Amino acid sequence: MIAVEGVVKRFGAQTVLDGVSLAVAPGEVVTILGSSGSGKSTLIRCINGLERLDGGRITVDGLDVADPRQLAQARRLSATVFQLFNLYPHMTVLRNVTLAPEVVLKRPRAEVEAEAQALLASVGLAGKADAYPAQLSGGQRQRVGICRALAMNPRYLLLDEVTSALDPEMTAEVLAILGRLAGRQMGDGGTTMLFVTHEVEFARRISTRIVFLDQGRLIVDLPTARFFADDGGLAHPRIRQFLSKMA
Ligand code: ATP
Ligand code: MG
Repeated sequence: MIAVEGVVKRFGAQTVLDGVSLAVAPGEVVTILGSSGSGKSTLIRCINGLERLDGGRITVDGLDVADPRQLAQARRLSATVFQLFNLYPHMTVLRNVTLAPEVVLKRPRAEVEAEAQALLASVGLAGKADAYPAQLSGGQRQRVGICRALAMNPRYLLLDEVTSALDPEMTAEVLAILGRLAGRQMGDGGTTMLFVTHEVEFARRISTRIVFLDQGRLIVDLPTARFFADDGGLAHPRIRQFLSKMA
C-alpha cells in the first residue's frame, strides 16, 4: 500500500500540496488528473522521496520515505517512468534495462539479460537491444523506459505523463502497452499503478479509481464510474471545466 497522509509541500511562499491524502492498494490502477501546476508531479516526486515534506507522511508498505534508510528499501518496491526519456545515452537499450537489476538488486547478468530481452520483445523492441537511445523514436524510447522500470519487478509502478512528449501515433503505441499492463494486474496482486496523465479517455478505460488535484488539494477520490457520473465527480465545477478543456 502506498499511503499519503496529510502531505504538505511548499516551494517558498507557494503551497503546492495542501494536505493531500491518498491510498493506493495492491491491484489498483489509480489515475491522478488535474490542471497544469496542480501538483501532480510534485506528489509523484514526494512518493519517490525526491522532495522533503513540509507536513504529513508518506509510507510505501509501511516504510517511511522521509527516513533515508527506509527510503532505500521503499525504492526497491516502486519504479517510476517520467515524462522525458531519462535513458542513459551512452548505454545500449539492453544495458539501460539490465543495469539496475544487476547493480542494485545484484542479480546475475545472464538471468537479468534473458528477462530484459523478453521484456523488450513484449513491447515490440526485440530487434533494438543493441541500439543506443539516440537511434530510437520517442515512443520506442519511452517503451524502453517502461521496460527499465518493469525490470526491477516493482510492486508499484508510477507513471508521470509518459506520453505527453509523444505524437499521437507514438502515444497510442505506449498507451497500448500500459493498457495491457493494467489489464494483467487487475486483482491479481501484481504491479499496481499510480498514473498521471492527460489522456482522460484512456484513464477512464484502465483505472479502478480517479483522483483530482486542484491547486494542491485533492478534491475528489472516486471509483472511475463514479468520477464520470453527473452526481459524482462531474458535480464539481472544476472537474467539469477540466474535462471540457480536454475534450
Ligand atoms: P503539469 O501538468 O504541467 O506537469 P503538475 O501538476 O505536475 O503540472 P507540478 O510540477 O507538481 O505540477 O508543479 C506544481 C507547482 O509547483 C507549480 O506551480 C510549479 O511551478 C511549482 N514547482 C514545482 N517544482 C518546483 C521547484 N523545484 N521549485 C519551485 N517551484 C516548483
Ligand atoms: Mg507534471
